[in-house]
Amino acid sequence: MALTFSTRLKAAPTSEQDIARINEDPGFGVHFTDHMAAIDWDSERGWVDARIEPFADYVLSPAGAVLHYAQEVFEGLKAYHRADGTVWLFRPERNARRFANSCTRLALPELPVEDFVNSVRELVSVDARWVPTGDEQSLYLRPFSVASEPFLGVRPSRGVRYAVIASPVGAYFSGGVAPVDIWVESHYSRVANGGTGEAKCGGNYAASLLPQELARDRGCNQVMFVDNAEHRWLEELGGMNVCVVTRAGELLTPPLNGNILPGVTRDSLLALAPEAGLEPVERPIDIAEVYAGLVDGTITEMFACGTAAVITPIGTLTNEEGRHEVPVPADGGRTIALRTMLLDIQYGRVDDTRGWTQ
Ligand code: PMP
Repeated sequence: MALTFSTRLKAAPTSEQDIARINEDPGFGVHFTDHMAAIDWDSERGWVDARIEPFADYVLSPAGAVLHYAQEVFEGLKAYHRADGTVWLFRPERNARRFANSCTRLALPELPVEDFVNSVRELVSVDARWVPTGDEQSLYLRPFSVASEPFLGVRPSRGVRYAVIASPVGAYFSGGVAPVDIWVESHYSRVANGGTGEAKCGGNYAASLLPQELARDRGCNQVMFVDNAEHRWLEELGGMNVCVVTRAGELLTPPLNGNILPGVTRDSLLALAPEAGLEPVERPIDIAEVYAGLVDGTITEMFACGTAAVITPIGTLTNEEGRHEVPVPADGGRTIALRTMLLDIQYGRVDDTRGWTQ
């Protein structure tokens, strides 16, 4: 049976004027709404005390397991404001299922899909006035579960806290969709075979931070990871999946081999590809094939995709041996066509024939 959420509202919620001021330029993940959804779990009672409560600091023992062994998972999805004033979610069940899979991998209790989706819906309903109305703005939702038991032994925590917080976010790129410069990392790996690559756990992101900083030092915006065994097969960026458009009309992306996060954007673009005149193909992609394809013109576009930035064209790929230019069509090409198709569904500007929005 689904959990029922109790609601305790903040005594002095943020004024409309302050929300409007924040939403003029919300940035990404800096401002938080008045409330959070929360559910507790312990090994004796299971999931209990589902509630909406004021956003507030956590009190966690310094012995809390998450602080020592990183037993933690999270999700990222958005609520979109439509022209008619209504607020919509995009495929939240997919995030719920991915969350459950991440929990299993991190030996955390699975939250049922229905309770995950309800927690998000309840929070968005209570804080709906925070959903920004500007172009490409949205309310970013961050569900997460952390091991809270104060215990230093290495075993799964017997206490867990689940919560959803929300943050108004702006268009990821001010001044249009700028192509990004990518460093292709051949030394550091983000994940390993048999590791936690397909789980959305904090540790994967911690492992990506140093290579990301080194990429920046080399003048690149983002780092692209290749497989950790042969340093040869494309995997993904630190926070986005990667796609290749070929002259033959394929939308190519690496398969879900256990090391890659199964992106909701990735999956949606593969489904939309035929409508954009592209054949979706999931297969291993050799970085040498990419460099050759950029030289002989068989690769016509590349982009990164994820919830935060939707689609970002890739402008260059750089490794120790040098820089490869990636074509960026003047009219935006298939990359921007796909981007517009997806945004039109998310913002309700076209009919959602797939039942992706609610
Ligand atoms: N890969 C990684 C490592 C990510 O963090 C994300 C963002 N969640 C993605 C891919 C894209 O996933 P999605 O399209 O579901 O946002």
